[in-house]
Amino acid sequence: MDIKETINKKFKERFGEEGTLFASAGRINLIGEHTDYNGGFVFPGAIDKVIMAEIRPNGIDKVRVFSIDINDYAEFGLNEENAPEQSWARYIFGVCREIIKRGGSVKGFDAVFAGNVPLGAGLSSSAALESCFAFALNDLFNGNAIDKFELARIGQSTEHNYCGVNCGIMDQFASVFGKKDHLMRLDCRSMEYEYFPFHPEGHKLVLVDSVVKHELADSPYNKRRASCERVAKRLGVETLRDATMEMLNAAKSDITAEDYLRAKFVIEEKQRVLDVCDALVAGDYETVGARMYETHHGLSKDYEVSCEELDFLNDIARECGVTGSRIMGGGFGGCTINLVKDELYDHFIAEAKARFNERYGHEPKIYDVIISDGARRVEK
Ligand code: ADP
Ligand code: MG
Repeated sequence: MDIKETINKKFKERFGEEGTLFASAGRINLIGEHTDYNGGFVFPGAIDKVIMAEIRPNGIDKVRVFSIDINDYAEFGLNEENAPEQSWARYIFGVCREIIKRGGSVKGFDAVFAGNVPLGAGLSSSAALESCFAFALNDLFNGNAIDKFELARIGQSTEHNYCGVNCGIMDQFASVFGKKDHLMRLDCRSMEYEYFPFHPEGHKLVLVDSVVKHELADSPYNKRRASCERVAKRLGVETLRDATMEMLNAAKSDITAEDYLRAKFVIEEKQRVLDVCDALVAGDYETVGARMYETHHGLSKDYEVSCEELDFLNDIARECGVTGSRIMGGGFGGCTINLVKDELYDHFIAEAKARFNERYGHEPKIYDVIISDGARRVEK
């Protein structure tokens, strides 16, 4: 049974009738890492792994919702300020509250949902969940009057205010704006965005999840951010978005070696995103892949947010002749994203599994992804 049928069956069982189906996707970020808080570019796309929900207004003042994957039920009133106990339900509660806070309308509804976005693997299942409900409630109760950016912000505010995650806007943006066969360059300073064609014929996009997460004591993200801010201040620019390597090199003697490396990565990464956009327009996937390897190298050696396991996966990719490979996400664990020629795919996956298992005692998880549409209504 596919996910649609499973949801539909459960909905009928629980609520006796049929509702409308909505879906929203997880996301990848091809390139542009640690650039968002430096006013730079990110380059995400929505994928074919989704959260799907069947929803129906119920005419009462309550939200009643069942999670198939967690096999759990929650209900809450629309005038309640107290979030439900279950953490999964807080995402839905938060979306309702955030719509209401903005003057939008939410009435009582019944919902059943399920998904195939892996949880906590860096594909942003939480943004998919928020975006699915934000899109659906906009459609069902607001005549789609809330614009797409606001839908993304509703998801982001949900994370901030109800889930304790102080995230940026990229995940929700990608989940809401995603378009089949397109990646999006989002300018994190102006919030302008542009679609670029992504037709990697002859290649697959595959995530290799190390399933490790190193918890570090000394808050590495805050330290990276502080380095970037210090260098920007020294160079007299608002963020490193406005800095060049010439400016950085001219100030080299005034900043620490560590701050220099951090800023160098950010400045080079901005250019790499722009290069990848040009390469995609030209259909030049070799250059796309080369920039991905450079990003990995920079994240590992200059920004120092890699770890042994991710460097090992990157080395295997290179040895197998994979076109492009890099850490995806914040670092210190999680996934690599890989652009792999079809004919090399089986060999690469077999090597990655066997060699990783031999060294670390478990196999990485493999997720093939296809760039797909983001939030949408789904026909039955
Ligand atoms: P991710 O990197 O995947 O976004 P998060 O920890 O931010 O990881 O979000 C995962 C949380 O989102 C889960 O713990 C759960 O509360 C909720 N969630 C995601 N997908 C589902 C699902 N299919 N069913 C129920 N809850 C989900
Ligand atoms: Mg998340």
